[in-house]
Amino acid sequence: MGHTYDTIIIGAGHNGLVAAAYLAKQGKKVLVLERRAIVGGTVVTESFGEGFTVDSVQTGGMLRPDIIKDLKLSQYGLDTSEKSVRSTRPSFISLQPDGNHLTLDVEPIKRFSEKDAARWPEFVRFMDKAAKILEKAYATILPRLPKDFDLRDGIGLAKWGVELRLAGRKDMLNFIRALPMSAQELAEEYFESEAVKGAVASLGIHGFTLGSMSAGTGYTLIHNWMNRGGMAHVNVGRAGEITQTLANAVKSFGGEIRTEAEVKSIQVDRYTCSGVVLENGEEIKAEKVISAADPKHTLLKLVGAQDLPPEFVWHTQSIKMRGSVAKVHLLTDGRHGIPKGTLVLAPSVKYLERAYDAAKYGEISEKPYLEVTTSGNAVSIHFQFAPYALRNSEWKMESGKIAELAIKTLEAYFPALHASRITHHIITPLDLEQTYGLTEGDINHGQLMLDQFLFMRPIPGWSNHKTPIDNLYLCGSGVHGGGGVGGAAGRNIAKVLK
Ligand SMILES: Cc1cc2nc3c(=O)[nH]c(=O)nc-3n(C[C@H](O)[C@H](O)[C@H](O)COP(=O)(O)OP(=O)(O)OC[C@H]3O[C@@H](n4cnc5c(N)ncnc54)[C@H](O)[C@@H]3O)c2cc1C
Repeated sequence: MGHTYDTIIIGAGHNGLVAAAYLAKQGKKVLVLERRAIVGGTVVTESFGEGFTVDSVQTGGMLRPDIIKDLKLSQYGLDTSEKSVRSTRPSFISLQPDGNHLTLDVEPIKRFSEKDAARWPEFVRFMDKAAKILEKAYATILPRLPKDFDLRDGIGLAKWGVELRLAGRKDMLNFIRALPMSAQELAEEYFESEAVKGAVASLGIHGFTLGSMSAGTGYTLIHNWMNRGGMAHVNVGRAGEITQTLANAVKSFGGEIRTEAEVKSIQVDRYTCSGVVLENGEEIKAEKVISAADPKHTLLKLVGAQDLPPEFVWHTQSIKMRGSVAKVHLLTDGRHGIPKGTLVLAPSVKYLERAYDAAKYGEISEKPYLEVTTSGNAVSIHFQFAPYALRNSEWKMESGKIAELAIKTLEAYFPALHASRITHHIITPLDLEQTYGLTEGDINHGQLMLDQFLFMRPIPGWSNHKTPIDNLYLCGSGVHGGGGVGGAAGRNIAKVLK
């Protein structure tokens, strides 16, 4: 039977859309299927009422500049180039109990430590360099190791090795050393003030179920720095522009996008994929199917264990998801008193570690790590830790507690917020799963941990986007190149299939 499409892409998050745009540009007949009524996945700007429009999950963000260039996205008004972003880079402010808040920059750091202020430019230089090295690694399609190693597949890897070496001996060694370190250890290599160390370390745990003293948060600190281009979020309130622009690009290259089109199953016969079946029973045939949904959902739910090799099923079941992020959005009358920028409640490394302790025992942090941004009259609060798997309760009962804790904690720093508040909207880890399609509420489609990165993402030996099923590929944040909003995973699959 002939194929209706060359390629079906499951999921219109930014990675699915990047993949679709590249493939459509190559002349492929592409169809994107999205279960929600809107495109964007976690990179969306949504309205929860009049005047209450926010980046509902991921705050702001920027695509990799080469993707913007390749897909000519600036013609649709998207300018997230490094130059434009840097010229408008917002402040990163760490809230302090005595009201003497810390802005991360040389002059304000002096109030906390002259020595730390002197070290700040060198820290920024190293982090920018480390982020560039990591970005190159994410741009490299990693060969399957250790089985079936084809020397041609190793070319990209060799190029990355050269990049690493070109970074210079000192930075190369410091980059490699930093990956397994804890965020605390990395921060301590540069700074002495508790306030500065806490602020820096908070970026290492943002989005992960790890503490600032956990091994490997040196890597996640560099990952998040790479994604934002520094400590603070950019383009706050405009996340949806990124994915709307990508959707426009897909269509302009002749690709199709269907929303409210949930894929129920992927059709597999003798380890070969031939298309998908939608929830409404419709069958759509394609030569290739690429899933931008998370690997656990794709392989265990849409394919099913019966069509996969047993060892592969075991590895897929073992992917660590562990979501522990909730969001609380507040609509205010605008007189909330919160400054612009990215604000964190991370006064010390110990505070962050104690917030994480709760997650270890399946409990909600009573003294949480918060990250706060504002957009128009709305205030958005990223709340950690709120573990998906609660030990003694269920999320249906606990969403009110998250809102209360987030608001009460923030009001202690901004008393005007209380009178300014009109209404709120909560997104729990269960909502992240049910509404946004993130298995176990894991915002990166699988934790970014050292045993789940590079050759081991999504599972050991399968980092090249392929699966044991012929013609079925993965391209979301759960594969090498993801997570975050750069789009590397989506771009890499297009390179694999070129
Ligand atoms: C609260 C929050 C904060 C974050 N903060 C940061 C940060 O500071 N730094 C950082 O690097 N990253 C951060 N992230 C992570 C980052 O946003 C994600 O890694 C990334 O956006 C995921 O993009 P994606 O395109 O791979 O997948 P998604 O955006 O998850 O898109 C997948 C799409 O697939 C659809 N789908 C799923 N199943 C099906 C199906 N069966 N049929 C059809 N469609 C389906 C979903 O509806 C969704 O639209 C954050 C995420 C969240 C939620």
